[in-house]
Amino acid sequence: MTCSRTPDHGNWSQKSRSFPLRNYRFQPSELLILELLRYYCQSYANPDSLAWEKAFVWGEKELGPYDGAWVVNATAAFIRTIRNERKTSFEFIVPCCEICRQEICVTELNALWLVQAARAENVLAMETAGRLTLDRAGYWSGLEDLLEKSRHLGTVLNEVFPEERISRQNLTDRARLIGSQFPRGQRPRDQLH
Ligand SMILES: [Zn+2]
Repeated sequence: MTCSRTPDHGNWSQKSRSFPLRNYRFQPSELLILELLRYYCQSYANPDSLAWEKAFVWGEKELGPYDGAWVVNATAAFIRTIRNERKTSFEFIVPCCEICRQEICVTELNALWLVQAARAENVLAMETAGRLTLDRAGYWSGLEDLLEKSRHLGTVLNEVFPEERISRQNLTDRARLIGSQFPRGQRPRDQLH
């Protein structure tokens, strides 16, 4: 993990490929998914952290026991598929640091873009975001698995957050932004194992 304020995590600020969260107009549900995603990544990277428990606690606190469990489970299936299908490290920001959590890195942006595309049922954007999220071109069964998990998560979010509207115009803007920020061969900071 990559936080100068967390023991043994090293200082990431010099090689960071992350951006201030405030630069993006994320919906509340997207910020929640980001939070859950980070807990799961932390749990995979450091099983002793038991961070997956925090995901359940956080989901229930934010959404109550029923919707909370629904969203947390759908997010878990989403990140589990990324972990299974992505062969390169998955960069993420530790959720426990108040400073670092104000940033978002490119891998996280791609994953959130995929969730947004799924909510809007934009198949082309889903496929592109899916490939970026898995860091692999082409078409293979693992991509289809991830798209299926994304569709499910998107459906759940649309049910639980009906007041949020994801427009295709926003997706286009986001795609352009992410495209311009896609990293070129720098060393990833964090990894799922
Ligand atoms: Zn930090």
